[in-house]
Amino acid sequence: MCASHVTRRNDPENLITKAEHETRVNLAALYRLIAHYEMDDKTSTHISVRVPGTEDQFLLNPQGRLFHQMRASDLIKINLDGEIQSDTNATVIEAGYVIHSAVLGARPDVNCVIHTHTTAGMAVSAMKCGLLPVNQKSMKFVADMAYHDYEGYATELEERERLVADLGTCNWLILRNHGLLVAGPAMWTCFSWMYSLETACRVQVAAMQSGAELNLPSKDVIDHAAGQANRPRDYSTPPAEWYAHLEMLDAQDPSFRN
Ligand SMILES: [Zn+2]
Repeated sequence: MCASHVTRRNDPENLITKAEHETRVNLAALYRLIAHYEMDDKTSTHISVRVPGTEDQFLLNPQGRLFHQMRASDLIKINLDGEIQSDTNATVIEAGYVIHSAVLGARPDVNCVIHTHTTAGMAVSAMKCGLLPVNQKSMKFVADMAYHDYEGYATELEERERLVADLGTCNWLILRNHGLLVAGPAMWTCFSWMYSLETACRVQVAAMQSGAELNLPSKDVIDHAAGQANRPRDYSTPPAEWYAHLEMLDAQDPSFRN
């Protein structure tokens, strides 16, 4: 058994700024939304967000907590070197630290990373063909979908270099025989992307399962649709849909704010 890459520097003086508190509330909401749309995998997988005003600190889920239970105060602050900053006895999943520190460390344009193990995502990740342009939901992703070969459980620091090399400047990655990953500038953006990518995978699996011959659009049409789906947008403030989701969560159980 190899030694853990995660260590503790529990700092009782580590203050939570207003900006960090707001980020924690939104991140706890994001965990619950991933569970709401059935993209969670019990306590496995992870979503990270860079702590506002820092380059080397991020928030991650504590090991053993279900996504639909997540509260703002549960989230663990950890740095790129694997030192837990929060004053807590909880720890993080080793693979969570490895994957998220890799992407956040290599990509200053990225503030949020979502990783899932859904059945449809894992099924497509096991297909040699990868993600196919079978439906409108796929068009955003197919042209610049990145792939990373399976190397075993992602608990080795050496894998980080190959993972970020495979991701390159892309914002979506299929981890072969493993799952899905999106990386972007904001939580609401990544949620929207992951929802679409997951739907694209579910549609592909359903279409292939039907056994019918698939109709795929021409490359010109795929490129045109990708251009439409990936028009530059302002990601700095949440879209109306994000607030609608917060309202839904508040009605269900507002404890994510705690
Ligand atoms: Zn995973």
